[in-house]
Amino acid sequence: MTQINPYNFVPLKSDKPKRSNGYPGKLKLHKDNYSGMLKCTLEALSPLISIDQRNPRLYQLIGNNGKPLKFTSGAKRGDLCKVNCFKFLRNSRGQIFLQGTSLKGMIRSVYEVITNSCLKLVTTIGYKDITGHKNAECNNPHNLCPACRLFGTIRGDKFHCQGRVVFIDAFLVKGNLEPEPPIANQSVSSKPFCFLKVLSSPQPSHHPTYGKKGQRNGPIAGRKFYYHHGKDTKFSVNEHEARRSIAIEEYAPVKTRFGFEVYVENLDKEEFEYLVLALELYEGLGHKIGLGKAIGLGSCRITIDRDQSFIAKGSDRYQDWNPTKDTTWYSLKKDKKKLPSALIEILRLNKDDDTGEIGYPSDFTNYPNDPIDARGVFGGNAMKGGRPYWPDDVATEPPKEPAPKVSQDQEAAWLKEIYDDKLVFVDTQGKEIKRPRKACQSKKKLQEVGAWFILWGPSASKRVLY
Ligand SMILES: [Zn+2]
Repeated sequence: MTQINPYNFVPLKSDKPKRSNGYPGKLKLHKDNYSGMLKCTLEALSPLISIDQRNPRLYQLIGNNGKPLKFTSGAKRGDLCKVNCFKFLRNSRGQIFLQGTSLKGMIRSVYEVITNSCLKLVTTIGYKDITGHKNAECNNPHNLCPACRLFGTIRGDKFHCQGRVVFIDAFLVKGNLEPEPPIANQSVSSKPFCFLKVLSSPQPSHHPTYGKKGQRNGPIAGRKFYYHHGKDTKFSVNEHEARRSIAIEEYAPVKTRFGFEVYVENLDKEEFEYLVLALELYEGLGHKIGLGKAIGLGSCRITIDRDQSFIAKGSDRYQDWNPTKDTTWYSLKKDKKKLPSALIEILRLNKDDDTGEIGYPSDFTNYPNDPIDARGVFGGNAMKGGRPYWPDDVATEPPKEPAPKVSQDQEAAWLKEIYDDKLVFVDTQGKEIKRPRKACQSKKKLQEVGAWFILWGPSASKRVLY
């Protein structure tokens, strides 16, 4: 069986982070800069677990023979095996949530890659040749990489640059934890919901062969991200196999949704576009959050609800309430060309289509010693990653012709992307509108760029001929 490592690396760029833009601060809003709030939804694409580490209970494992399990080797040999059982994170009012700091870390790590920033969130111990990418080199407010400039950085007593992006905790807004209803007042001996597969590898330093030639103890392999395993990932083990494991009482199943806000202050257009890209990515790609990334947990997608968001230019900020909402920012997002191919490989949601098993080998005594290739395969020879389910791009900006006049129940829109099952239009306000593919014209006709469509009802569209 082909074995695919649960994570891979995005190689560092050879050029240093660009540190020439000074810190813009938060007090004086530039007239062309963006400030406000992005209303976001995070949807679980695989089971999601964010544990409350404060009060786990201990559970004594029972073996197949019905007797308490004991450790059979190691320093604890002969001791009773007890595992920690964790509940999902809740605040003091009992609300289920994901921490804003976790969301921020997840988005910052992607932002660092796409803007070639320093390595703040990566352990670099034991590696060399990362000069230029060291976080310590972001050492004064006039010398910050793009990520430190936006997300903030602290250098001891020397200086403190506050981030200009704030992530609020994400609360459960759709669906519920499983199992439901929750188990009330577990006794010490009541069995937890499930025992997780072992979460970490005994040999965490595998170098990819591409880019850096798989050198051991050589240059850093790059920035580490975990693969998606698909929605049906198997994350639990039997009780008698759970000696090195932890247990959970509950989890957020696929399709559960969490809502949160991201507050931004004084972002220039470039920063805003990169932030939107880091948040939403593109269809076919996903993020990972919470516990158990190596065993396939925590795959998720973030979408920004633009109608529920409020973003204004610096100059507009303190003007009177304006009944016509500014929607010019709706279409601001860096193109997917800004995503390095190595990042696309790791974040693509169709990774489980690859031949092989994603995860640490179950036999830890026989751990593969071969370096991994660009697709995460031990001993493989792939030099580049796979392709997600991208749509066909039709256009990236509105047609040159003026938008046609439409009646009240209609909408003028241009065609942006074609999927197998749906079309993505963009209306004159920059808002995306999705329509089922079958209700529209043939693919060949649709791909003629440079014309507007008229949309009406939930599924109808007609191309405008000039
Ligand atoms: Zn930095």
